[in-house]
Amino acid sequence: MLLLTFDYGPGVVMQLKNQKILIVGGGTSGWMAASLLAKKWPNCQIKLIESQNIGTVGVGEGSTPYIKQFFNALEIEESDWMPFCNATYKNGIEFINWSTQPGYNRYFHAFLSDLDEQHTPLFEQATLNRRQGQAVKAHPDGYFFLQTLAQQHRQPTLEVQSNNNAAPHNIYAYHFDSGKLAEYLKQYCLNLGVEHQFVDIETVELAGNGEIAAVIAKDKCRFEADLYLDCTGFSSLLIEKTLKERFISFDENLYNDRAVTVASKAQMHYQPQTTSTALTNGWAWQIPLTSRTGNGYVYSSKYISDEQATQELIEFVGRDNLIGEPRVIPMKVGRVERAWVKNCVAIGLSQGFIEPLEATGLHFIQTSIESFILLYELGEGSAEYRQVYNREIEHVFERVRDYIVSHYLTNSRNDTEYWRVCRDKINISDTLDGLMRQWCSGKDFKAALKKAELDHIYPSASWHMLLAGMGFLPPIDGAHRLSDSEKRTLAQIAEVHQQHINVYGKT
Ligand SMILES: Cc1cc2nc3c(=O)[nH]c(=O)nc-3n(C[C@H](O)[C@H](O)[C@H](O)COP(=O)(O)OP(=O)(O)OC[C@H]3O[C@@H](n4cnc5c(N)ncnc54)[C@H](O)[C@@H]3O)c2cc1C
Repeated sequence: MLLLTFDYGPGVVMQLKNQKILIVGGGTSGWMAASLLAKKWPNCQIKLIESQNIGTVGVGEGSTPYIKQFFNALEIEESDWMPFCNATYKNGIEFINWSTQPGYNRYFHAFLSDLDEQHTPLFEQATLNRRQGQAVKAHPDGYFFLQTLAQQHRQPTLEVQSNNNAAPHNIYAYHFDSGKLAEYLKQYCLNLGVEHQFVDIETVELAGNGEIAAVIAKDKCRFEADLYLDCTGFSSLLIEKTLKERFISFDENLYNDRAVTVASKAQMHYQPQTTSTALTNGWAWQIPLTSRTGNGYVYSSKYISDEQATQELIEFVGRDNLIGEPRVIPMKVGRVERAWVKNCVAIGLSQGFIEPLEATGLHFIQTSIESFILLYELGEGSAEYRQVYNREIEHVFERVRDYIVSHYLTNSRNDTEYWRVCRDKINISDTLDGLMRQWCSGKDFKAALKKAELDHIYPSASWHMLLAGMGFLPPIDGAHRLSDSEKRTLAQIAEVHQQHINVYGKT
């Protein structure tokens, strides 16, 4: 998933001299923003202020592959940050029990390897054949290298640096303790000269032109800057509460508004993947860290109470495995209409949030701050460039929303009203409607993704994995079993995977 292309090379580094940037909020978004800004604009005066009384959300344990570029930009090595943050590698996400179609009760959404380049067209062709009436199963499992790695408990990186030129290049992501990541980045920022102060902001002062003039703390301490980053989380203190930017709720098609989380014991030989299991009124994540396993149940408060959800999660994880107390987190799902207004840019939860099904929170933070830097360098904050930024953020939020909504739309569970409503009563965007019609008509789906500019957000392979993996395919006699030709193809792919797999270490 990509936003604007961000140039991490030497390129033009704008020497913003004496510009004052004030970041309000010290969660993951505040420190990620501070790190990139301090690295990219060394001549700016950057200050981060945060409350000691208002906690951070502190979840966000899974990433997308794109975060690797963030660490590269900061020149931070995996060998340094990963042990500090109890991090593990992530090959992809396994979805379990979202579908009741025979043969489709689980599928793996894999990140891509260059080894998949030759196999993805075979898989996509199988889905096309099925959509056109042939009795093939067209399930994604077996086609993608990182799924094979995860299945065999292997990491996506080489165990030893090998001279084997044939070692495939893998795109992978991470799991980590996000509280520790914020701590790590804080130290990184302080080393680069970012100032930090604990204060509770009480009021925000506006200038005559409607820009933010200052933020004022409870102790009357006053902070003035040229640019303000609102990283205050769901409270959205600057962009919503002060500048009155409209919040667009996604509650017409994303019903989950709460999560309960609890940690359990670390597993010795874990599968390097996130697991997403559908429960009665939502879904549960399981994320392996080196220190613990992160678990959470994302649900709709309209269909299940906090107490019931907590109980269901505890039973799912196993009471004997727990090592912490459950914590309920309300979620505000949606986005502000414009994330950059006058001299204020909202980053992180203050800007918007799509439920964590594909772990996009930190991805949005990274791409938002990158795009902001890029466009500020091009347009110095002019109204025209602010508009470009806001349009781009809107596009990405709305199209990621389509991808997330598709999981609910294509579920085939009938055990509770929640799952039926998620499938049958949901409102979908015109873009998604067009896409689903194309899929069901048996026509060229790849072309439709391209036309809707969706393939640069989630690649075509991801869309095919999702829709075919859910068994969202025409019912055809015998198609729940692999056809002979699929068996042959999968056997050949398994052989190719096997030729490469031994250089990847086990957990
Ligand atoms: C249940 C759940 C699961 C998630 N899972 C994932 C995931 O797997 N992957 C992923 O990428 N993302 C995930 N996210 C999103 C991720 O957690 C957030 O994007 C990330 O933590 C950034 O949060 P934040 O910094 O914007 O806000 P917060 O963490 O809420 O930080 C807000 C900061 O603002 C400060 N503040 C607020 N008001 C004031 C004030 N008046 N004065 C001074 N300071 C103030 C607070 O002290 C705090 O420092 C998840 C989110 C939730 C809710």
